[in-house]
Amino acid sequence: MPTGRTRDKLPEKEETKQEALQEQEEIDEKEIIAVEETGELPKTQKDDINLWQPKTELGRMVKLGEITDINDVFEKSMAIKEAKIVDMLIPNIETDLLMIGQSKGKFGGGQRRVFKQTQKKTNEGNKPKFATYAVVGNRNGIVGIGYGKAKETVPAREKAIRNAKLNLIRIKRGCGSWQCGCRTPHSIPFAVSGRCGSVRIKLMPAPKGTGLRVEKECQKILKMVGVKDVWSRTEGKTTSKINLVKACFLALQKLNQTKIPTAQIEKLGIVDGAVNE
Ligand SMILES: [Zn+2]
Repeated sequence: MPTGRTRDKLPEKEETKQEALQEQEEIDEKEIIAVEETGELPKTQKDDINLWQPKTELGRMVKLGEITDINDVFEKSMAIKEAKIVDMLIPNIETDLLMIGQSKGKFGGGQRRVFKQTQKKTNEGNKPKFATYAVVGNRNGIVGIGYGKAKETVPAREKAIRNAKLNLIRIKRGCGSWQCGCRTPHSIPFAVSGRCGSVRIKLMPAPKGTGLRVEKECQKILKMVGVKDVWSRTEGKTTSKINLVKACFLALQKLNQTKIPTAQIEKLGIVDGAVNE
């Protein structure tokens, strides 16, 4: 499968230029691996929560301590427009990057990578850009995914994480498996499906101990939201990971868009968002 980069044949006099570019690409590759391996981002002054100056009403309320529970934000259906709101309300939020890219290699590329590389051809040479998808969550009913693209890997990753925090959803968990019926929120209460491009995914409740029987990048999303057991079925071009993770996220969103009769809530052990375990 092509990796999304196009390389036209260059005239001979530009060969040295091409060599220089190749060298640059190798350096980029090393840098990407370095960013993937170091979990921590360098802390800067703008990360300091005490220096945060909220720009929205919700931000001010959170900073003043008028809102201390993320569930209140969802219940009042307020829009989160500042990532710091999430940092304050969910101090234990976790982040991960999804493998949407592919490394360079012969015969259609090699391993899956966190960054998808694209290049723009200009007079000065090829200008690379890096794109990535981040997933954030509290492993307890709240999850978000976000896209980030930049000229360098670190800013792309920061953008993706920030966007993921602004794109949080709260989902309902439960035990919708008739084989299990344990009334605890280890799975999902009913089957949901999502679609993006040609990709369709269906997530189904599974009994305790099943694990996450779903594609690896979707596993990361489900782990982040605290779903432990699920069955799935996918259709379409699932090698296009961006569409796959989007479809998975859309499916999860449906868990909260469906009205559930009160009797079912107890029977299926449904919980909304975070619960104390
Ligand atoms: Zn169960």
